[in-house]
Amino acid sequence: MTRILHRQTRIPLPVAVAGEGPYVIDSVGRRYLDASGGAAVSCLGHSHRSVIEAIKAQLDALPYAHTSFFTNEPAEALAEHLTQRAPAGISHVYFVSGGSEANETAFKLARQYFWNRGERERSRIIARRQSYHGNTLGALAVGGNAGRRAVYEPLLIEVSHIEPCYAYRHRRDDESEGAYGERAAAALEAEILRLGPGTVMAFVAETVVGATLGAVPAAPGYFRRIREICDRYGILLILDEVMSGMGRTGTLFACEQDGVTPDIVTCAKGLGAGYQPIGACLMSSTIYDTIALSPEGFQHGFTYIGHASACAGALAVQRAIEAEGLLDNCRKQGIRLAEALGQRFAQHAHVGDIRGRGLFIGVELVADRETKQPFAAQDRLNARVKAKAMEAGLMCYPAGGTADGVSGDHILLAPPFIIAASHVEEIVDKLAAAVDGAIAEVRA
Ligand code: PMP
Repeated sequence: MTRILHRQTRIPLPVAVAGEGPYVIDSVGRRYLDASGGAAVSCLGHSHRSVIEAIKAQLDALPYAHTSFFTNEPAEALAEHLTQRAPAGISHVYFVSGGSEANETAFKLARQYFWNRGERERSRIIARRQSYHGNTLGALAVGGNAGRRAVYEPLLIEVSHIEPCYAYRHRRDDESEGAYGERAAAALEAEILRLGPGTVMAFVAETVVGATLGAVPAAPGYFRRIREICDRYGILLILDEVMSGMGRTGTLFACEQDGVTPDIVTCAKGLGAGYQPIGACLMSSTIYDTIALSPEGFQHGFTYIGHASACAGALAVQRAIEAEGLLDNCRKQGIRLAEALGQRFAQHAHVGDIRGRGLFIGVELVADRETKQPFAAQDRLNARVKAKAMEAGLMCYPAGGTADGVSGDHILLAPPFIIAASHVEEIVDKLAAAVDGAIAEVRA
């Protein structure tokens, strides 16, 4: 009997006891291929020696020292590593314990930036529907995931939500990808004008939408147009790369592929690869100067910011990614996985779309491929696929579903960057069987 409040208690969870490369092993010796990196976290698999050794060494030297008294070497080195590789203009970092904290930090940085500049009317955030930015109240308010928000609506600050850039469902048949990207971005300008440009502080978006839509990259040109609109009205662009950043899409920052530099970018999951809980909020030098040079400093903080052992783990993760050429492998296996899925599901009556970048791939399931009609929410198709996959020894992340009534069920794949061709085969075989088994259950 568990004494933990788990997300769901209907089906008891297996007990994870060991890790071996991309596999998690449970207490009865069953092996699960981690095709989703948990929730796009475990980019190095589950037994990376150099990371484990680096954390042990830091624990021996100094586990933690509070940042109101000290900085520490791994935090400084990790900040240097990330800012040297970040898009031009990003100069400083704030380390936290996860994605929600990174985003809360981003929103507060944006607010204090305008406060310090004397633009105190600027407090509004514009974000997108079908997005996820975390479960703390601020991040939940900015997120546009109807299902996750429902219970907490009365507690949430007011945020505007525009349409996401989601070509599979929103691009018109007579429209090019580029024209669609322009049209989707124009919704931001319309909303800024509706609110009054002087009241808006930031536009927030996931560079590649993860948990809510299942690895949906923006149409070409979308983010460049978004950047222009933000600049025109003096609004900050905050990109949430908690899921899509740190190499997941084949480049360290997902936005490199969109050709834009945000004012603030957040990351977490792949930063520490699950070896330690850590997130980061990276900012431009303009924001840093406006806040750091002010007499009051940044009006924010958590007990575990810049945690030495967490930073040592993340630094070892990032060094391993470079030393082992894992971004190359991520791109290579990402292409292999997308092609293998494409072949396996080409004729499948219920696979509507396969999309993504690098090893961040979404499969959207639909009741009818012609009309794109989703399965009914009560069919709980994505939960069934997850259960069937677990029975077969495969971890995949069921995303979205039909809770918001405007998209199909999605399966998110985000395996570790260390996978080989044999793992790709295992993922596709087991996923195809899980999808067919789940659909057969729904039909029965
Ligand atoms: N932003 C995005 C894009 C995410 O995918 C997540 C987690 N799924 C978060 C923020 C929140 O991160 P955490 O759960 O670490 O607080």
